[in-house]
Amino acid sequence: MTVTAGTVSALVDSVPKGLHIGGEWVPTTGGVEVENPATGEVLATVADATPEQGKQALDAAVTAQKDWAATDPRVRGEILRKAFELLQQRADDFALLMTLEMGKPLAEARGEVTYGAEFFRWFSEEAVRIAGRYSVAPSGGTRLLTMKQPVGPAFAITPWNFPLAMGTRKIGPAIAAGCTMVIKPAAQTPLTTLLLAQVLVEAGVPAGVVNVITTSSSGRVSEPIIRDPRLRKLTFTGSTEVGRRLIEQSAQQVLKVSMELGGNAPFVVFGDANLDRAVDGAMLAKMRNIGEACTAANRFIVHESVAEEFAARLSERMGAMKVGPGIDDGVQVGPLIDQAAIDKVTELVSDATDAGATVLTGGKTVGDKGYFYAPTVLGNVPASARVFSEEIFGPVAPVTTFTTDDEAIELANRTEFGLVAYAFTENVNRAFRVAEALETGMVGLNQGIVSNPAAPFGGVKASGIGREGGAEGIEEYLETKYVGIALG
Ligand code: NAP
Repeated sequence: MTVTAGTVSALVDSVPKGLHIGGEWVPTTGGVEVENPATGEVLATVADATPEQGKQALDAAVTAQKDWAATDPRVRGEILRKAFELLQQRADDFALLMTLEMGKPLAEARGEVTYGAEFFRWFSEEAVRIAGRYSVAPSGGTRLLTMKQPVGPAFAITPWNFPLAMGTRKIGPAIAAGCTMVIKPAAQTPLTTLLLAQVLVEAGVPAGVVNVITTSSSGRVSEPIIRDPRLRKLTFTGSTEVGRRLIEQSAQQVLKVSMELGGNAPFVVFGDANLDRAVDGAMLAKMRNIGEACTAANRFIVHESVAEEFAARLSERMGAMKVGPGIDDGVQVGPLIDQAAIDKVTELVSDATDAGATVLTGGKTVGDKGYFYAPTVLGNVPASARVFSEEIFGPVAPVTTFTTDDEAIELANRTEFGLVAYAFTENVNRAFRVAEALETGMVGLNQGIVSNPAAPFGGVKASGIGREGGAEGIEEYLETKYVGIALG
């Protein structure tokens, strides 16, 4: 795709900028500026909802709930299937929009469109497979009937790093289950969700079923929605810090919550690993999305017998990556999201080098415009360095070593997070022992990516509650009702 200034402005102009409430596009008095992180320039200004407008969006979701729950599952499924097809047809537009507002290279943005659209296809198939049970009580007589019902209006809050997929992963199962929704994308990347809302209308989603609010005051607008007794479900993807606060707010209405929070993934390479596979896996696990992924490998824990070779090969591959604006041909590493992200990465790297780590490649910002940081590998990082305990969210790979399997597992589990871990070994016994011992919701065995719409994505410990995708995903939007039946 050739991207010109004309293509960019035509696309950005075509995106609705208002709030999407009850099927209408509602303008607001103020606006939220959306910046292009590759240039620091303002791309567009979208609506800035007030708390009252947030409540109006919830009103619309509440009003639409009864009819949507009563809509035939096949109809809900077919609307989702249509949305899947429309997303594919509009793949170039969605990819370019994500590159512009978030920074990821176009090829990766395209990958996200495929991944994000797939949640609609998956849940279009799940919509018609919602089923209960019928059984005989162990003591006989009574019959036990369980039925599944939509939980009710949901509120979804999504982050900036996967502007499309983090939304479709929530909207897909909600629509399939018969739940209406208010969705609030991150202020830094609202355009993708707004374009998605337009596509959902085209796919046949009725007014009020999916409402979108954008705002510069996420806390002020979200809290009244979360505390409103008509809301029944909160689904959040973002940092653990904000997630904790939202769980507290949800306690008041005893909301059903799904929390996809931060990660600190260990990437463990055993002495018997196939190093070609391990380095390929490391490139994916570290560099996907510029390192700005909750699943990003945050700590490389490598057996002492192969650590030097692994670090050298990883440095060579990372050092050769092309850094630049995501819309440029051949770029593999786009900008970080903002100056705060650059500051955080810079701080973590200097803390590690102060503690004795060596910079094998990178270790600095790139260019004088936008927020670029060079792919970086740090060797001999002491396990006490901050880079091992905090989420890096950038293209930095710290490497430390271990001697025994027990030590590797202890290091891997030495974190409050538990989203995903990666392990590389050619020994099947070790692979299963390690997969069982890792305290995470997901494990990548000899592979550097675990995201898959057909699999249950989610974490344990401070990485969250609940699962998205797979057979589990729709359950987050369903309640189980049991009916005891006395047979005369
Ligand atoms: P964040 O600061 O927690 O923001 C996430 C969302 O929460 C944004 O929409 C944000 O809106 C909103 N928000 C912030 N403060 C809020 C408040 N007080 N009340 C209600 N909403 C609030 O996280 P982020 O920096 O966007 O995303 C990065 C984090 O997400 C990382 O920790 C990453 O690991 C995590 N993540 C997890 C997963 C997963 O599946 N486990 C996937 C992707 C990302 P504004 O930005 O507009 O304030």
